[in-house]
Amino acid sequence: IFENMRVCGIETKNAGTSGTRQVSGVKVEVPSLGSGEASELKTISAEIVVNCAGLWGHQVGEMAGVNVPLHAAEHFYIVTENIGLPSTLPVLRDPSGWIYAKEDAGKMLVGCFEPKSKPRPLNTIPEDFSFGQFEEDWEHFEPAMLNAMHRIPKLEDAGIHTFFNGPESFTPDDRYILGEAPELKNFYVAAGLNSIGIQSAGGAGKVLSEWIVNGYPPIDLWDADIRRFHSFQGNSRYLKERTEESLGLLYAMHWPFRQPETSRGVRKSVLHDRLEKTGACFGEMSGWERANWFAPQRTEARYEYSYARQNWFEASAAEHQAAREKVALFDMSSFAKFVVQGRDAEKVLNRICANDVAVPSGKAVYTSWLNERGGIESDLTVTRLQENVFLVVTAGASQIRDLAWLDKNIPDDAHVTVTDVTSGYAVLSVMGPESRNLLSKLTPDDLSNEAFPFGNAQEIEIGYARALALRMTYVGELGWEIYAPTEFAQDIYDKILAAGTEHGLKLAGMHALNSLRMEKAFRHWGHDIVDEDTPLEAGLGFAVKFDKPGGFIGREALMRQKDELSKTKSGVLKKRLVQFALENPEPMLYHNEPIWCNNKIVGDLTSGMYGHTIGTCLGMGYVSHEDGVSKEFLESSVFEIEVAGERYGARPSLRAFYDPKSKRVRM
Ligand SMILES: Cc1cc2nc3c(=O)[nH]c(=O)nc-3n(C[C@H](O)[C@H](O)[C@H](O)COP(=O)(O)OP(=O)(O)OC[C@H]3O[C@@H](n4cnc5c(N)ncnc54)[C@H](O)[C@@H]3O)c2cc1C
Repeated sequence: IFENMRVCGIETKNAGTSGTRQVSGVKVEVPSLGSGEASELKTISAEIVVNCAGLWGHQVGEMAGVNVPLHAAEHFYIVTENIGLPSTLPVLRDPSGWIYAKEDAGKMLVGCFEPKSKPRPLNTIPEDFSFGQFEEDWEHFEPAMLNAMHRIPKLEDAGIHTFFNGPESFTPDDRYILGEAPELKNFYVAAGLNSIGIQSAGGAGKVLSEWIVNGYPPIDLWDADIRRFHSFQGNSRYLKERTEESLGLLYAMHWPFRQPETSRGVRKSVLHDRLEKTGACFGEMSGWERANWFAPQRTEARYEYSYARQNWFEASAAEHQAAREKVALFDMSSFAKFVVQGRDAEKVLNRICANDVAVPSGKAVYTSWLNERGGIESDLTVTRLQENVFLVVTAGASQIRDLAWLDKNIPDDAHVTVTDVTSGYAVLSVMGPESRNLLSKLTPDDLSNEAFPFGNAQEIEIGYARALALRMTYVGELGWEIYAPTEFAQDIYDKILAAGTEHGLKLAGMHALNSLRMEKAFRHWGHDIVDEDTPLEAGLGFAVKFDKPGGFIGREALMRQKDELSKTKSGVLKKRLVQFALENPEPMLYHNEPIWCNNKIVGDLTSGMYGHTIGTCLGMGYVSHEDGVSKEFLESSVFEIEVAGERYGARPSLRAFYDPKSKRVRM
């Protein structure tokens, strides 16, 4: 507990002695690279600028061409007359009643995070509003007040001393906005504190300072990283409508797979309407509407949330089964796609990629992009289309981040251009043992293993179109991803569907995909691998080419890590990503569940999902062990995963539970 005014006072006092200068009461008008213009002080030069303008952060960002998606909302609390409360009372939170209550000089302060908030357009907030307040709105606050009186009956006869209504800013996903703006070097942001800015200020300030000083975040901060946002998220209508929902999410139940209800339908694949007609239940990712599962006929495509198996469990199981035994079609158009081309494209990409992309045209390479510490910045495929043309395909959620990483690591004098072609291509992913037979009906091209091996890309005829077919998989079966210019995709889709019936084709969604990839132990960037995990720890050493000419970013760090191995008893790393299968098939795993080893917590799950072929819940997570996480250590230890306070026995494995030798992928 601290008094924020006192902390600010101390900072102000320290400013003079610590070699810093504090200028207050001045409006920053044009922050730009290397300097900040202030109306009364002309120019303040600064190597680094941090936009921490609170609910004005969006506008201050705009001045510098930086997207800071946040929107103000009104936040309400009341303070009662003095009712003699002791100062030792703890803060009370009642999420189901949307309220919090705390003692305030003998009075009770009651505030709320209601399910439908009142967004406040910035043009209705005067510039000199700092520390100001808005008009009362009893009608809006009343339902929360009734909830409070139900929970704390003493409030019924306590007089109201103060009604307070002040603004705070909210982000589209209720998480802070921290880090260096992808649009402008040395321009950092610390804003969007979603009504917990006082309690979070110390931590946010600490990590941001370290980020600025070191050039990278001290821990995995992807959740809060400004690079997760897309430019459309700065759209004022999108922000206003989402803010109605995001304030209340502070106290709402965080159901697994919960989807936002506002500002939906922003980015739709060209297959969207067709998928909708066939029962798709959509989820949102970076604005994209993606089919998460398909409701069987005569059932509603609507989530019924629960921590247990949800209403889509069986439908998704059938989609999973189709991919394993027959064939399934996934709309993967939300993949981010960049064309990297130019005389130096191979050289530049080979420095950025840990794997070797100096391959013949038509070859696709699975690779990580590493930072200087060997941490994984991205996990993607690079396909050489022509001598000087490469296609980079990465996760939709990483589109802005990966583009910024590419941009940052292309030397100024390199002859390379990067074009984001995400919107230009739909991706139809046809996966399963029947995929060859099905696609062969639609193309005269030879799809045999000899003519079209795994990891290859070829332009093929399909339907009336020509499209790029990439033999890759995230589900662990024979299959092709078809990259078609968007206007051709609907016809290709119709033809695949028409031809698919006799092959047992099913449309499949993201939940089935997740279940399939978990069985194959395929990693998911942002969960299982982030910028603080190395490929060696993540079991991705097979996709690192240590001896390629010219090296790659992160190589030295990985070499050091390899050297450290010799210091462990077992000769293996102390931290490794391990797969788990629950012995009891009932409990559900999502992520963050503690991993117990011989009665000690040794890590937590980064991903969890039911594996329908294995028949139980699967998880993966990093396990730490001083003597090295060896196969012998795993086999001789007792592992349990904690779910809702109960521990369940779990079988550990360094390899995938399904087809560990990937024979099915190469058939
Ligand atoms: C009623 C209410 C109760 C709250 N209670 C709590 C609580 O109990 N616990 C908690 O953790 N959080 C609480 N919060 C939230 C907390 O106050 C905010 O999250 C926090 O103040 C945000 O800090 P900030 O530094 O991002 O923005 P701010 O505190 O808004 O600071 C931004 C500053 O930037 C200045 N500025 C803007 N534009 C310019 C410009 N162009 N030039 C110069 N200066 C500029 C503004 O004048 C302002 O001083 C509450 C908020 C409200 C409204």
